[in-house]
This record gives sequence, structure tokens and C-alpha cells, in this order.
Amino acid sequence: MQNLDYIEVQKHINILNVAFHLCLEIVETKGQEAKAICPFCGYNKNTKIPTLSLNINNNKYCCSRCGKGGYSVGLYAKVKGIDSKKAYKKLLERECFSLDRSKIQISPINLLADIEIRDKVYRAFLNMIGLERTHRSYLRNTGMLNSTINNGLYRSVPKKEIKRRLICKALSREYNLAGIPGFYQEPDFKWTFARSNGFFVPVFDENGYIQGLSIHLDKTFNNNLDIWFSSKDKINGTAARSYIMKNNINEKTTDLIITDNFILGTLIKATRNEPMIAFQNITNSYVMLKEIEKTDIKNITFVYRVPYSNENIDYITRRVFSDLIPLGYNFNLKCINNYKNFFDENFNVHYAVGKAA
Ligand SMILES: [Zn+2]
Repeated sequence: MQNLDYIEVQKHINILNVAFHLCLEIVETKGQEAKAICPFCGYNKNTKIPTLSLNINNNKYCCSRCGKGGYSVGLYAKVKGIDSKKAYKKLLERECFSLDRSKIQISPINLLADIEIRDKVYRAFLNMIGLERTHRSYLRNTGMLNSTINNGLYRSVPKKEIKRRLICKALSREYNLAGIPGFYQEPDFKWTFARSNGFFVPVFDENGYIQGLSIHLDKTFNNNLDIWFSSKDKINGTAARSYIMKNNINEKTTDLIITDNFILGTLIKATRNEPMIAFQNITNSYVMLKEIEKTDIKNITFVYRVPYSNENIDYITRRVFSDLIPLGYNFNLKCINNYKNFFDENFNVHYAVGKAA
């Protein structure tokens, strides 16, 4: 490897594999080119056409909207905020290097298993663990009824390593855990999952299938209270996607509540049954727009809870939802101080971001 010219090497870092590691949303592949949502400028608001081209032949990328471009290594470095030398090293570790120009084959991380399989495995998994008293009373304090808590399948993340391994031992006897985000193998090939201090929040789809698990942390980590149960950087691990939770949305829906928190989303669903989308760690409004394009939705209210990281709220409103205003949606923010405020008819209007004609 040392004898290879760096410039030459970077031409062979497979761009699709890099895109895969960056969890870029690839929308279409035509011949030697794949089209993805640009991680730097999002997507074209008017056409919703993905503007980032990934060239499979020369492993270069370029965005027709923001003009960013270069080799796959640079793409990885820019998105991760590291220098290209470090990016290059990381990508070599992840077997993204291949001298022949054949199509992507090596992928050290697994493709996501189908929803039916994920649902089955996660249900079996959650059946093996309990909900600690502190977590139950946290949920009770949000205003949830015991029945809602039980139906929601909330479970505390086991703290003991041996317990996590035993659970996985039993689980892997019945199911293939490759392709199920959260699970991975130790160097001794035994299956396990990582410890986080908090509890699992299953994210159900409209048919009641568990799409994936979110973890609500006891303490904020990197400004986040909620993370995905994922194992993308681990042996035989699988990356989680950003799932959303929806309630009661149809073609005639005009008003929509959105929230960046599945627990709050569940409360909205259980108590108000209003049209709602809950999400977490969202980076662009594409997912949201896809959900609402076939509806009559005009008014979108983002409900969030304080105390909460203001940085996050600013980021979400500026980067993600400022897109919605030029498209003609009314976008408002509402904050609640406590989950219980939510049961009041008029929860406190914080400020209006802007209204469009
Ligand atoms: Zn761009």
C-alpha cells in the first residue's frame, strides 16, 4: 500500500461504498451514475430531484446545485468534518479500496433486514428484557397510562455485559441477527449489543410493525437525549435508518403536528389522535415532504419540550424546516414546559417562525 501514489489510490475508493457508510440517500442508479440527496445542500426544493451525482466509474462526486465535488475520499472527509488523510485511513480500514473498477461488492456492513423480520426479532428481543422502575416512573410522569406503556413495549437497556451476551445467544439461535440494526459480533464471534444508559423506544409503522428501536438516554450525550439502536461500525453490524412514526394522516388532512421525540409523539397519538409525524435526528425535510405531498396539509406545528437543547431546536428550524416556508406551508413552533402541559387545550405558543401566503 505504501508504494501506491495517494492520488492514484483515492481514485479507487469506491464511491458507492462511501455513500453507504455516510448513509446517503441514493434515489436512483443509471449506468455509471447514482443520484443521491446532497449532504451539503439538501435537495432542490422545487423539483425534489436529487442533485448529487456519484460516478461509479471514476469514483467522483459532484452536486449540480451547490457545486461541491471531488473524489470519494473528499466527500467522506467533508461530511465527517475530518481531513482527507484521516478519511482515507478510515475508508481503507472499512475495505472501501479496490483496485479493479468493478462494481461495489465488498460491504463490511449488512443490508437492512425486511420489516417483518426486524419486527419479529425486536419483539423476541424485547420480550427477554424488563422495564426498570425508574424508567416506568419517568414514562408515568409524562402522563402515559400503564396500558400505553405496556403496549409501547418500552424496555430498559440491560447494563450487565453477560446479560447482553446471553440474550443474544438465545436470540441468535432462532434468528439471523445480521441485518438487524443494534446487534453485532465480538471478536470471538459471539453476538451482543452495546450498552447505553436508558430505555428502548420501539418505533412502530402504520401496520404496527417495529421498524427500529430508539434509545431514550438517561443523560444527554452530544446534545442528544435520543439515539438509534445501531451497530454500523461493528463486526457484522447493521446501520439503523431514520424512521418516522405517523398517525392519522390522509389526503384530506390539513393540519399536522410534528415532533422530534417519539415519547411526545406517542402521547399526541394516545391523547389527541391528531395527524402527527414524530422523528429524531432529522437532517433534511425530504422525508417529511414525501409523507405530506399527497395531502392537503397547509399548517405544520412543531411541538417540542423545554428544557431541551436550544441548539438543536435552532438547527432543526433553520436547517430543516426553513425549507417548508417558501413552499407555502405555515410553520409554527409550540413549546411545552412539561409533558403535562400538553394536556391543556392551548399549549404555549413560543414564536411563529414565519408565514407564507
Ligand atoms: Zn449540493
